[in-house]
Amino acid sequence: MKYFRLAGFLVLALLLHGDVRNCVCDLANAESMAARECGLCREAEKQPADETVFFLKDANPNKPNRWLVLPRAHVHFLVDVPSETRLALWTAAIEKAKALWGDQWGVALNGDERRSQCHLHVHIGKLLENTETPNFVVVDGPADIPVPKDGTGLWVHAVAGKLHVHAGEQAAELVLMR
Ligand SMILES: [Zn+2]
Ligand SMILES: [Zn+2]
Repeated sequence: MKYFRLAGFLVLALLLHGDVRNCVCDLANAESMAARECGLCREAEKQPADETVFFLKDANPNKPNRWLVLPRAHVHFLVDVPSETRLALWTAAIEKAKALWGDQWGVALNGDERRSQCHLHVHIGKLLENTETPNFVVVDGPADIPVPKDGTGLWVHAVAGKLHVHAGEQAAELVLMR
């Protein structure tokens, strides 16, 4: 039984490259923390323990314009983030995005199937042209950004002083300039 479960896991890991639903980054286990998908967990550990959120420049050389904002606490899914931390995360993301890109800002959280890093992170970038779709809800501010319950991601941008929240997508970061 164990063998089959392991084999199944390996097949799944190969098929769904970038899927973080089986993350095992464990601070008490240095070997587990050395895994590639635990890289942002290691970055979080370098931050002061009393920090709520922190920024990182995206280390991917193919995404030279990207920044990330992350919670200091180890959490993999937005649904597990306490509401105060969630507000701090979205507020920080939007402030940084505005500072970098003015009205052209966008922030995006990928769905659980399209993330190559276990530690929760929000992408900050410049919204590409012609990304608008009819699938959005309008909210007043970061406190009202809904939490996807189905493991999908979302992206957010500003329209006429309000926020558009586009939900239901896995590869949400594709609306942002690399
Ligand atoms: Zn972590
Ligand atoms: Zn929109």
